[in-house]
This record gives sequence, C-alpha cells and structure tokens, in this order.
Amino acid sequence: MKIPMVDLKRQYQDLRNEINTELQAVLDSAAFILGPCVTAFAEEVADYCKVKYAIPVASGTDALHLALRACEIRPGDEVITTPFTFIGTCEAISYTGAKPVFVDIEEDGFNIDVSQIESAITPRTRAIAAVHLFGQPANLDALMDICNRHGLKLIEDCAQSFGASYQDKMTGSWGDAGCFSFYPSKNLGAYGDAGMVITNDDTIAGTVNTLRNHGSSKAYTHSMIGYNSRLDEMQAAILRVKLRYIDDFNAARRNHAQQYTTRLSGSNITLPRLDLEGTPVFHQYTVRSDSRDRIREALQAADIASAVFYPIPLHQQPVYQNDYKDISLPVSENAARQVLSLPMYPELTQAQIDHVCDTILASIDPSGN
Ligand SMILES: *Cc1c(COP(=O)(O)O)cnc(C)c1O
Repeated sequence: MKIPMVDLKRQYQDLRNEINTELQAVLDSAAFILGPCVTAFAEEVADYCKVKYAIPVASGTDALHLALRACEIRPGDEVITTPFTFIGTCEAISYTGAKPVFVDIEEDGFNIDVSQIESAITPRTRAIAAVHLFGQPANLDALMDICNRHGLKLIEDCAQSFGASYQDKMTGSWGDAGCFSFYPSKNLGAYGDAGMVITNDDTIAGTVNTLRNHGSSKAYTHSMIGYNSRLDEMQAAILRVKLRYIDDFNAARRNHAQQYTTRLSGSNITLPRLDLEGTPVFHQYTVRSDSRDRIREALQAADIASAVFYPIPLHQQPVYQNDYKDISLPVSENAARQVLSLPMYPELTQAQIDHVCDTILASIDPSGN
C-alpha cells in the first residue's frame, strides 16, 4: 500500500468540477491580475478569521516580509524568532536588514519557548515573529503579554495554521499581523505560490496593500519602492473553492491525528500534544524518537512516505551559521535529530493510518529501542 505525505491528486479529483468551472470563468473573463476573485477571496478570509483586513500577496514569505516592513522593522533592529521553522520566517526578517534573534523551542512541543523570550530582549528588539508550527498554536497569551509590556510588535507566521484557533480566536488575528502561505502542500493550498496578510490595523493594511503593488495605491502614482507581490486571479479562484471545505479538511486532520495517537500511544515514541489551549489543524503530525532513522527506513521499505521537518535548525544553516557560531539551542538541535512527520492529509483512510502505525510499531523493539 503506497502512502504519500500529501495526496494533491486525490483532492483535485474530488474538487475537479468546481475548480475547473471557476478556472474556466477566469479564463473567459481575461481578468488575470487583481480581479474579482482576488477581492472576493480576501473578503472571505477576513470574515473567516474575523479581522478587518486581508491583503492577498504572492507567497507566505512575501506576506512575512511585507508585514515586517509595514511594522517598520529596519536595519539595526532585532526580531526574536524560533530556529525551528522553515527558513522563510527568518529570510523575511533578513530582507528588512534586521537581525534574527533565536530563542529555543519548548521541550514538549515545537513552538518558541515563551519563558526564554524576555532574556533575549535588548534595546534594539522591535518585534517577535512567532510560528504556529505544524498547525499547533503557539502560546499567544504569553506572547501578547510580553509584546504589550515591552512595546514589541507581534507577527504571526500562520503558514501552517490556517483555521487553527487559540482560545476560540483564530491564529493570525492576535498579533499586529498574521501571515499565511498557500503553497500547494499547505493545509489550504493553491496550485502555485500564494500568500496573505491579515490585520486589524489600518496603517499596516494600507502599507502592505501599497507595497505589494509597486508602492502604488493610486494608478501610476508611487509613494514608496514596493514590490510585485500580487496574488493572481487563477490561484484566488482555486483557493475560494478550497476555502469552502477548509473546516472539513481540518476536522479530518484532527481526527487522523487522534487515530495516530490512539494507535501509537504506549510505545516509546513521543507523540504531539493534543491538550492545547485551542484547536490545532495538524498541518503535520510529527513524532519524536531516538530511533527516527530506523523508523524512517522501515516506512520507506513499506512504500510509506515520511518527512523530516526540519533537519537543520536555522542557526546552523550554512547561510546563518557564521553569525551564530557561538550560540547553542539544544532543544531545537535535539528536535532536528528526532522528528519525523507522518503522512497527513484530509483524504487519508483508516486502513492507511493502521498500516503506517503497524509498520512503525514493528520497527521498534518492545524494549523500547
Ligand atoms: C511554507 C512556510 C513559509 C513560506 O511560505 P511560502 O509561501 O513558501 O513563501 C514560511 N513559514 C513557514 C512556517 C512555512 O511553513
């Protein structure tokens, strides 16, 4: 039984008629840039996340970059973030000229350890870029409190958490700006690159809106050096179809996570926490084990995909390691050695989950090694 990490072909088959109809309408309209689907999608996301503004952009990395710029992050500033994330979080900080300051992750999860943030704050600190990694909400109560007390901006990287909430309020709607990626394999995925910034702040919304379209808010009048970072109409048309199903997709992911946990508990594998203060979306179901590589080989031999997110923490990446050679972030470094993400997508079946779990359990010996 071949099991992929995500099954985008299967999802397209299920949505084929709706998506093809919407795409055909875009082709017939010939409105390809900043057309009605982009506007409608932005309104729908703003409603869904209960925020005033949603500004579509070309990618998740652009969403982070433009949000940081709109928060006036400049060269010489410091932005606190996690080393255990996709590099896009950190690249966006580097684009502004600010310095990423890494704070280690929590022992029992994969998000920034809020108890270590305050000792990393200096007079140059301007913002925290927090990530809701794998669709598990970070500790937003503590993050908001720290930002309020120290006058810092909070930028939420929600690239993996569309639809996840913390205390009944959507991730992305807590801080100054929330940034989504709609990369094809994300839990809300386009058929190309796409992203979005959400905010309740009039100034941030206005600046992101201007920056994404060549620094122009009025045709051929340019008030700043901006970017070409527009979401295109065809991607918006596809995303509008998928948005109708996102709650079902996310509920299916949570259900699969529960099945994995039921089947794998009792083994010596560390499973993701399910007792969070909010509703996760399980963009990934990520376990930890010292026998990670052995488990991975067994899965591979059984034609089951798995993935290591992420094998190298950011402070040890070739591009950053020179600037951070004196720091050690042991929890992240250890996580990089132990993590394994299992197949996770809404269309996964019980038989597939059973097969993944049986294969894992057979690969670890009963003494727990
Ligand atoms: C995917 C991702 C990004 C980058 O998004 P792109 O759309 O690929 O630019 C940033 N941060 C995290 C946590 C991601 O998973």
